[in-house]
Amino acid sequence: MNARITPVDTPLEVACEHCGRLGVTREAWAEWSVAEQAWVLSHLFDFAFCHHCHRPTRPVERPVSDTDPAAKGAV
Ligand SMILES: [Zn+2]
Repeated sequence: MNARITPVDTPLEVACEHCGRLGVTREAWAEWSVAEQAWVLSHLFDFAFCHHCHRPTRPVERPVSDTDPAAKGAV
């Protein structure tokens, strides 16, 4: 399952509303797909968590930035 319905022309990144860094995750359910022989996301919940702030957050979508190396942090 892809949470985005329509394709975008500009690649996006998702940042934390508090600290502005990447590393935001969402809660989701995964369901086993017999056809794909893999776990596939079946539902994406609204709850988001920042692994830098270590607190709930609101994911903020923005165009991918090449100018802020600090924002490139992974989970
Ligand atoms: Zn944060």
